[in-house]
Amino acid sequence: MVELRPGDAVPGEFVVEHAGARCMDQRSDGACVALDPVTFLCTIYDERPQTCRDFTRGESLCRQILARQPPWPAS
Ligand code: SF4
Repeated sequence: MVELRPGDAVPGEFVVEHAGARCMDQRSDGACVALDPVTFLCTIYDERPQTCRDFTRGESLCRQILARQPPWPAS
């Protein structure tokens, strides 16, 4: 779950409070509600949270998470 930081200005309908923090909401499968389930693209890319901006796709942590929980359906 992506916790929002001060200054993040994402659409309000995507935000929930979790353990006292403002966060991006998740679908039942754990995916971010802003993730397009077909294209796997961020639907709010230009407004995405700072945490998402700081995350480097393909870095070590990214590969570890994908190995545990691939975001695509099992074949
Ligand atoms: S980049 Fe977009 S889809 Fe991915 S976690 Fe951030 S807000 Fe959600």
